[in-house]
Amino acid sequence: MDLMGLCSKCGKPGAMYTCHLCGSLVCSNCYDIEHGICCSCNVGKK
Ligand SMILES: [Zn+2]
Ligand SMILES: [Zn+2]
Repeated sequence: MDLMGLCSKCGKPGAMYTCHLCGSLVCSNCYDIEHGICCSCNVGKK
């Protein structure tokens, strides 16, 4: 099977979320579902 997508943050396959701020495709581990953004954007978010 083809990869669903590689996480832009940890590089692992299975990315299924798109950050609403930077548009990065990330996995559940790297995604803040509550805010709809990736971990990188979440760090800079107050
Ligand atoms: Zn990830
Ligand atoms: Zn982001």
